[in-house]
Amino acid sequence: MAEMQTATTIEQLRTLVSCAKKSGSKIGFVPTMGALHEGHISLVHEAKKHCDFVVFSIFVNPMQFGPNEDFHRYPRPLQDDLKLCTDAGVNLVFIPSVEEMYPTGFSTVVEVNGLTNNLCGKSRPGHFKGVTTVVMKLFGQVQPDAAYLGQKDAQQALVIKRMARDLDLPIEVVICPTLREADGLAMSSRNRYLSNEQRSVAPLIYKGLCLLKEDVALRKHESSAQYRLDLLKRLEAIPNGVVDYVEIVNADSLEVLEKMNGIVLIAVALKLGNTRLIDNIIINTSA
Ligand code: AMP
Repeated sequence: MAEMQTATTIEQLRTLVSCAKKSGSKIGFVPTMGALHEGHISLVHEAKKHCDFVVFSIFVNPMQFGPNEDFHRYPRPLQDDLKLCTDAGVNLVFIPSVEEMYPTGFSTVVEVNGLTNNLCGKSRPGHFKGVTTVVMKLFGQVQPDAAYLGQKDAQQALVIKRMARDLDLPIEVVICPTLREADGLAMSSRNRYLSNEQRSVAPLIYKGLCLLKEDVALRKHESSAQYRLDLLKRLEAIPNGVVDYVEIVNADSLEVLEKMNGIVLIAVALKLGNTRLIDNIIINTSA
């Protein structure tokens, strides 16, 4: 097996990717901010199933963090990350600097309207503009055939899918399932911020989502608002947890639903101390 390559500049990246393309490889791409866990690696496994050459990016994108968010303290365990990428069989890791991505005079943004108005878009103003701008740049740099994203960030995945469609990018955007710890907590780079106490109650987020799913199967309520309220109460009961949002929305349009109809996304964000955790489930109500 060929050794994993790394690139820190766009020029190096382009040379290596065009070499792979010339030999007829289908290019898969997994964009991340590093501090890797099995969830990220599951995207690589999926990419490897369908592509011949997998490019993986690690870039903590300052543009998608708010002024009081964790950009500076975001974990950057690069050596551990590279080891995980090697073990997973990544072909090329792209690790650009902030200066490489945003040279002096940088002044273009990409913004998706509508889909970014609620959920995380509401509580993190400007966040998705940062995400779509950096992902558009990465797509232009890597020029992959397919990109692999996690359902864990449901809104982000939909927004990127919409961007690719609206801008006619010849890239298939594939959304992959959320990987969880044994106790149900969605894997996240931010889980490493949690104290022991916070970590022990964090699985209650997913527990709440699962209980809602059970209640829907029993047709406990008429309206989505009542299910939402039940979940809100359960989340508010998490010790020292502060709920940011709980929403029941259409899984494609992200519009708030009055009834549990069609494919429904239940999305939550909750703060434990300074750590903001998000999670979601999808319920197919006609199944
Ligand atoms: P991040 O490094 O947090 O920006 O995430 C990079 C990619 O990994 C995004 O597409 C995420 O949705 C995905 N991801 C993060 N956590 C998980 C998880 N637990 N399971 C599956 N994919 C994930």
